[in-house]
Amino acid sequence: MIPVNEPSLGEKEFEYVNDCLKSGWISSAGKYIEAFEEQWAAYCGMKHGIAVSNGTVALQVAMACFDLAPGDEVIMPTFTIISCGQAITYNGYCPVLVDAEPRTWTMDVSQIERKITKKTKAIMPVHIYGHPCDMDPILDLAKKYNLVVLEDAAETHGAEYKGKKCGGLGDISCFSFYANKIITTGEGGMILANNDDYAKKARSIRNLCFKPGKRFYHTELGNNFRLTNLQAAIGLAQLERIDDLIEKKRWMGKAYTERLKNISGLTLPVEESWAKNVYWMYGIVLDESVGLDAVEFAKRLHAQGVETRPFFLGMHEQPALHAMGLFQNEHYPVSERIAKNGLYLPSGLTLTEDQMDRVVFAVKQIIREIKH
Ligand SMILES: *Cc1c(COP(=O)(O)O)cnc(C)c1O
Repeated sequence: MIPVNEPSLGEKEFEYVNDCLKSGWISSAGKYIEAFEEQWAAYCGMKHGIAVSNGTVALQVAMACFDLAPGDEVIMPTFTIISCGQAITYNGYCPVLVDAEPRTWTMDVSQIERKITKKTKAIMPVHIYGHPCDMDPILDLAKKYNLVVLEDAAETHGAEYKGKKCGGLGDISCFSFYANKIITTGEGGMILANNDDYAKKARSIRNLCFKPGKRFYHTELGNNFRLTNLQAAIGLAQLERIDDLIEKKRWMGKAYTERLKNISGLTLPVEESWAKNVYWMYGIVLDESVGLDAVEFAKRLHAQGVETRPFFLGMHEQPALHAMGLFQNEHYPVSERIAKNGLYLPSGLTLTEDQMDRVVFAVKQIIREIKH
């Protein structure tokens, strides 16, 4: 079976983790945490880095930093992971959706302005599968309507928008370092901010809102969302290799496109002129003309030894959110179409050219079979 994803772990990762073990600094303080926070923030062009236990809580804590009122509205794409929606609802805010844009699958920025109301306080752009959102229109609207911007850059480590790193464009940004992300710590996440107050608040919530100087006295409630030094040691070692990891992903993206572009019935990832795509996952969308949806296509690929994953299912199609009274009669046709017909192919950092050729062979064969 060709795995859909596999992390790339090198000598440095072993060395740094061993160093932690030998030193006894295996919990959530230590030099690797500090170095990882500082260097990740610097890499993305932000002032503060706050490491947390995963990307989901990074979003939840970042949302809390804005200190909005209950019921305030946050505009987000429907086509994303549930972590984005629940970061808003857990804080008592109200998610408001826009559809995906059909080329990059990121939020359709042309739909944002008409969703802005008196209650709108924030926009949450999510960069998708390695490709950035079109950020300038979002930042312009934020300025015009006095909104804050939370960027979810979990899928775009090192990707660029007009020459600037994703995760360095909004007021706050969030990352995941889950094992399938470009840089991994196993489980892990990070919040980046320029604003000192946001950083202070995020650090406090991450660590149970302990008060400096008055340790067991609490004026607010936080959580234990700490990352360990052991995890940060892996992250730092990965960060030192990030240029190579991104080069590998970009090779993969281009090589897949080269091999698949002449097959009719497939929509492939793009790279807009203003973007540097890092091809976190190589997604394909089947045209209706193919006659199979993604579930059926994935089954046939699986039978040929190729592991895939389906695309996200939009927030407006989530029963858990309907049960909260959200999005009950809303429809977003692009998101619905790509959720039904989209899947991603093996895209790991250890994927070989030979494996890619086998994946492409299987895709071609399945399409040929349906057509006959
Ligand atoms: C992976 C991911 C997350 C969640 O990160 P976890 O570390 O798995 O909790 C959030 N947003 C996006 C866009 C992601 O891809």
